[in-house]
Amino acid sequence: MKKVDLVIIGGGPAGLTSGIYASRAGLKTIIIEKGAPGGKLNNTHQIDNYPGLEGKHGYELSMSFTEQAKKFGSELITGEVSSVSNLESKDKKEVTLKNGDKFLTKTIIISTGMTPKKLDIPGYNKYFGKGVSVCVVCDGAFYRGKDIAIIGGGNSATEESLFAANIVNKIYIINNFPTFKAEETTLEKLKELKNVELITNTDIVSINGDEKSINSISVVDKKTNEKKEINVSGVFSYIGWNPASKFLEDTKLLEDDGFLIVNEKGETKIPGVFASGDILDVPFKQVTTAVSGGTISALSAKEYILKE
Ligand SMILES: Cc1cc2nc3c(=O)[nH]c(=O)nc-3n(C[C@H](O)[C@H](O)[C@H](O)COP(=O)(O)OP(=O)(O)OC[C@H]3O[C@@H](n4cnc5c(N)ncnc54)[C@H](O)[C@@H]3O)c2cc1C
Repeated sequence: MKKVDLVIIGGGPAGLTSGIYASRAGLKTIIIEKGAPGGKLNNTHQIDNYPGLEGKHGYELSMSFTEQAKKFGSELITGEVSSVSNLESKDKKEVTLKNGDKFLTKTIIISTGMTPKKLDIPGYNKYFGKGVSVCVVCDGAFYRGKDIAIIGGGNSATEESLFAANIVNKIYIINNFPTFKAEETTLEKLKELKNVELITNTDIVSINGDEKSINSISVVDKKTNEKKEINVSGVFSYIGWNPASKFLEDTKLLEDDGFLIVNEKGETKIPGVFASGDILDVPFKQVTTAVSGGTISALSAKEYILKE
């Protein structure tokens, strides 16, 4: 079983930042990532609010973070963590992967972020991957010249609509609330686009197709109860997020909502176990906040090890 100083679970902005700081501080560090390193950055067309790097593509930023973490010595392992155990041990905390591989470590940083919520309507599961998606940046190009629906009213839905507007023929943004919760600047840009229709107070009730692909969605106006069908070839859902913390269910780390709480040093209820980024029960979830938390957790992990 491989022994290290620090296991970072999740290689998004938070985890990769921890990797940069921890390896530069001389900790033997591994980052375990189940998908592509960079996390949700890979699903983001453009980052305009990361200081000093306005207009950077999410993918580019994620590549830079990853290269920097590897350059300073973090080892990146592809795999999904299925459990953690023996957390009270000072130097033999155990991290187990789905494939059975195990790692022993002095410290752990949890930075697994969130996963998209699913729409609980007929057709969602059936057409997932066959017309239903949660990532315009990944799948938008399949709908070039076609009509799509984007479900949601927050920043993710509106920012991704802006990106999709250059690719698809028409976008219906379906928001079940009377107003949008998104940033005003993005909304203003959307309102100027001729191929975007903003629909509020409306629920999507089913996704319809011919078994192989989608041809329409059924929606209902919550005020008038009027039902209608909108012809679309794709549905992109941005209706919120769940914490990616199922693998922690057997620990005492989780709050009731599945998120984690840490102190000002990024430490959880268990000494030597830290957390950062979107997995935290905090109101603002951005790349900058993830990077900040990743820094604090890594430096605190170093401090914890030095106190041994
Ligand atoms: C569409 C969209 C647009 C956005 N636009 C912006 C923006 O313009 N500016 C901005 O600042 N923020 C933006 N954000 C938010 C930003 O992307 C997140 O706040 C940030 O990525 C959080 O970083 P993180 O490392 O905490 O989590 P994530 O980026 O979610 O990374 C977590 C990583 O953990 C991995 N993981 C999960 N579970 C496991 C497991 N059991 N084992 C191994 N690996 C695991 C995941 O695969 C993932 O790679 C946007 C988000 C979205 C979805």
